[in-house]
Amino acid sequence: MNSETKNCQNCKKDFTIEPEDFRFYEKIQVPPPTFCPDCRLIRRLVWRNEHSLFRSPNGEKGKSDLIISIYHPDSKLISYNREMWWGDRWDPCNYGVDYDFSRSFFEQFKELLEKVPHLALSNSKSVNSKFCQTAVEMKNSYLVNSSWGCEDSMYCNRTAQSKFIHDSYICYSTEFGYENVYCHKSSRLFFSRESESCLDSYFLYDCRNCSNCILCTNLRNKSYCIENVQYNRQEYFRKKKEFALNTRLGIEKAKIRFEQLWRDAFHKHLKLTNTVNVVGDQVKDSRNCYWVFDIEGEIENVKYANWGSKGMKDAYDVGPGCGHNSELLYEGISTGVNNNRSFFNAVVWYSNNVYYSYMLNNCQNCFGCAEMNSKQYCILNKQYTKEEYENLVPKIIEQIKNIPYIDKKGNKYSFGEFFPPELSPFAYNETVAQDYFPLDKKRAEAEGYSWREYQPGSYQTTIKGKDLPQTIAEVDDSILSEVIECEITKKPFKILEQELIFYRRLDLPLPSIHPDERHNRRLKLRNPMVLNKRMCFFGDEEVFTTYLPESKGGPKKVVCTKHYNQEIY
Ligand SMILES: [Zn+2]
Ligand SMILES: [Zn+2]
Repeated sequence: MNSETKNCQNCKKDFTIEPEDFRFYEKIQVPPPTFCPDCRLIRRLVWRNEHSLFRSPNGEKGKSDLIISIYHPDSKLISYNREMWWGDRWDPCNYGVDYDFSRSFFEQFKELLEKVPHLALSNSKSVNSKFCQTAVEMKNSYLVNSSWGCEDSMYCNRTAQSKFIHDSYICYSTEFGYENVYCHKSSRLFFSRESESCLDSYFLYDCRNCSNCILCTNLRNKSYCIENVQYNRQEYFRKKKEFALNTRLGIEKAKIRFEQLWRDAFHKHLKLTNTVNVVGDQVKDSRNCYWVFDIEGEIENVKYANWGSKGMKDAYDVGPGCGHNSELLYEGISTGVNNNRSFFNAVVWYSNNVYYSYMLNNCQNCFGCAEMNSKQYCILNKQYTKEEYENLVPKIIEQIKNIPYIDKKGNKYSFGEFFPPELSPFAYNETVAQDYFPLDKKRAEAEGYSWREYQPGSYQTTIKGKDLPQTIAEVDDSILSEVIECEITKKPFKILEQELIFYRRLDLPLPSIHPDERHNRRLKLRNPMVLNKRMCFFGDEEVFTTYLPESKGGPKKVVCTKHYNQEIY
């Protein structure tokens, strides 16, 4: 078998299917894809809403009772709260229908999604954390999304096993952290990037085992350094005062300096730890993987995956939300946690042999189902016997090939393609597609995605962000009743009591920017999930990297692993 170049039916760019890819498709009995890897990723991303929450009618009680839901009230979808959805007072099979062989499968699946009640928020085993979406085992946390095992934390995305962290993105095992991106195993670390095992420090990039350091890059096992210059303890604390890091102004100034220092630092071309034959970024303890990003570890034979937790084998086109003891997966989003043979699914956990389904837990042998728990042998939510199911599924697969769905852009969806984006219950800008491939309304609509404008609600702002006091010491409890106008987006936001306590405890100034905009700014501190070839800064070899070329704002000193290990120790 040779590699083949195909033309993506969506973006019209060429992409290559390698012999090993053909072998995988053959093994799971699906035809090769007709969308390129990037278009496949975006097509999945529009099915994951990690952080756009709304007050929507409680599907059980009616319009007067509003609950927190990932489904916008205008979507007209029915939201059930946790207790109702998981309880036995309803049966998703009551929404089941016969398969109609004269119509496209996706059309019938769309109708099912419009009818069946949806779980308002995925949040399990949590205490006092009702605003956390895609969250597990959370305690006293607020808007900490796509996270697990966090306590007393706020405004975080993709964090785990952490306590008292605010405004952080992809951080594990950290406490008392603020405005960190890819920082792990640290305590009292602030405004830092890609650092590990650091203490009492501000503005670190790629540092390990450092304490009491400010504005340092590529540093190992140091204390009392500022801009990589060693000071003694007294000098350090005297200099630290001059930075006034307890004022918004001091932080703004340090941020600008940090940006320069980051630009001048050494950057390892890919951030891989303990990997064999892996091409990807931010990946640990894995082997034989290609085009994989943000993987916590222990994955093998995986291609085109992102945001995965430990343990995944033989998978293509999965994530965000994948892994966790799963095997044989193809085209899935939020299909982590003990899945086996999971194909073309969104939000399916602890399940086996499931195709084209949405929001299933502990299900076996289901096809085209939605919002089900502990079911088997169902098609479009209708219950069948094992024999009936096994007889019907091959016929349906043939029918999907014969009657493909054509979306409004003219793209054709036959068996082997993920759900068309226009079936998604979310608008493009409500999903993580907007986080990773941001578009404006015009572009999104031109590309066939739906869009929902932000509605500011009835809040009247009472203070402008830029007029907030410079230090937390100047702030009294009356701030809790103010409505702040974001300095950048003008969106109103409030300071919550838990947040105020956090800022006071760590002597951090109030933010003048809306939490959403803070999240967007942190996202810009990560590299895009795109691999380019680039010459090592020392000119010895061409390497894959996620860093943008220098001409597009990327840093200068992107280096191969050999040179990184030589320079940084
Ligand atoms: Zn494409
Ligand atoms: Zn080199």
